Amino acid sequence: MTDTVERIKCLIIGSGPAGYTAAIYAARADMKPIMYTGMEPGGQLTTTTEVDNFPGYPEGIDGPTMMIQLQQQAERFGTEVRMGMVTSVELNKTHGGIHKVEIDNGSTLEAESIIIATGATAKYLGLPSEQRLRGGGVSACAVCDGFFFKGQEVAIVGGGDTAAEESTYLANICSKVTLLVRKGEMRASKAMQHRVNNTPNLEVKYFTEIEEVLGDQVVEGLRLVNNQTGEKEDIKVTGLFIAIGHKPNTEIFKGQLEMDETGYIITKGKSTKTNIPGVFASGDVQDKEYRQAITAAGTGCMAALDAERYLAAVESKEEVEA
Ligand code: NDP
Repeated sequence: MTDTVERIKCLIIGSGPAGYTAAIYAARADMKPIMYTGMEPGGQLTTTTEVDNFPGYPEGIDGPTMMIQLQQQAERFGTEVRMGMVTSVELNKTHGGIHKVEIDNGSTLEAESIIIATGATAKYLGLPSEQRLRGGGVSACAVCDGFFFKGQEVAIVGGGDTAAEESTYLANICSKVTLLVRKGEMRASKAMQHRVNNTPNLEVKYFTEIEEVLGDQVVEGLRLVNNQTGEKEDIKVTGLFIAIGHKPNTEIFKGQLEMDETGYIITKGKSTKTNIPGVFASGDVQDKEYRQAITAAGTGCMAALDAERYLAAVESKEEVEA
């Protein structure tokens, strides 16, 4: 008996809000999508506690529950959700071409269309105390978790646009925000720095790094060190936000898909089309600016619609515009 390679219409890679929303739309359009969940089924939201800003949940919902419900909704319409990782892809540059995909269990798939929803991973400092207190006051998303620190004193680390934007966002909610920058200046745009410097309850500490996050079950403070003088200082905070960048999960597509200098997939205009026909990108893997569950879900929907139109055009032997 010879091994037959499985041929599918629509492969979805990644299982965050973008992937599941794409799956719901693709399944309802009878594209019989197959999803590979990746290393972290459910994506970044499974590391969040409460999601308060996704429309339709007036009382909020915890991240893992929301992802299970999205999975159930996708499965209700016939999405096949498989645990596993896509390890490599061989993307076909021709219109209507078949893309080859290797899975970590050793199997090979042939896909007529691919929706990439592999997301991005927040970078952390890597301190043991920081990792231990993730979910206990350490967060990589101020917009998601800032509200839980209303009226409290918090710190945020980073010197880029994200740190600048999130520190001013937090200053609207919290009584005091301390922004920790490891260099003597911020990398953020001048306009963003201007906003930081003009926010009264926002203090910037330059040349400052975190030596340890203090607290047993929850964050109680930080031990800081000035990297010029070696001087140490403890500050009291109940929350620590990490804003030192994200890494898009695009390794397996390098050299085949157009990406920006930081590895985010470039999509065309307002669509989710990549430079390869039949390959679409949605969610954080192509968005370094908004990075919200709801925006990821929106682009997941767009990717399924783009894929559906592409497959219809291939079937009717129409050339679609690139
Ligand atoms: P960036 O990579 O631009 O900045 C990361 C920051 O974190 C840098 O200041 C860096 O310091 C600091 N950092 C990195 N590692 C550590 C560490 N271990 N300890 C302390 N500090 C550390 O990431 P952003 O997320 O800020 O931005 C990503 C991209 O998205 C940028 O292109 C940005 O312009 C864009 N963006 C745009 C927005 C907008 O236009 N509204 C909003 C948010 C992001 P150092 O400078 O010393 O290297």
